[in-house]
Amino acid sequence: MNVLISSFLCADWSYNDQSSWSKDSSQCSGQNQSPININTKTVKDTKLCFHIHWGNQDNKGSEHSIDNKFSAAEIHFVHYNKKYGSLVNAMTKPDGLLVLSVLAKHSPSPNRNLNLLTKAAEKISSFHATHVIQSNSHFQLDQLFPINLNGIYRYQGSLTTPPCYETVTWLIFKNTIEISSDQIKVFRGLQQSSGKKLLTNLRNIQPLNGRTVFLF
Ligand SMILES: [Zn+2]
Repeated sequence: MNVLISSFLCADWSYNDQSSWSKDSSQCSGQNQSPININTKTVKDTKLCFHIHWGNQDNKGSEHSIDNKFSAAEIHFVHYNKKYGSLVNAMTKPDGLLVLSVLAKHSPSPNRNLNLLTKAAEKISSFHATHVIQSNSHFQLDQLFPINLNGIYRYQGSLTTPPCYETVTWLIFKNTIEISSDQIKVFRGLQQSSGKKLLTNLRNIQPLNGRTVFLF
């Protein structure tokens, strides 16, 4: 990320007369200008679910790759816009979905913060690829986030499972968390609806097709 510090000394507008900015810059009178006041009483709430992806190899269990390198697992926090009532309704809307993604690197020692997920997985006998665990107040979601939150990749994409709607704003943390082989094994032990073990639940990498990925 580059930081640009600029001064406005050469500009021919003034902070004293902001209502005249739109004379030279018509966009200054647009309908979606910043900054804004954030009224916490009218903020639209988004609802959150999360799930995890893994693979049949410890070094290839993430859906996204960074410079063609996969991680051991990938956790998706799926936020859907509450105004649409449900994930199913929101997923077809342009402002319906935001997925926050955490990549997990393979590590020799287990990550205790993942115990909630592995314990839940041990209790469930059958598990669909997109099974959703509802978060609750007893669980701090940020336990599953990297310690250093600096650096987030953002791009416009899709669901990674059918119906693959292109309605997802993806935010992927640059920094990773850790997961051990034994922890991944717990997930591989989950059963699909067919009764077979779900050894992997990854979609293949899709072409970029000219899209830009931004780093914040
Ligand atoms: Zn996912």
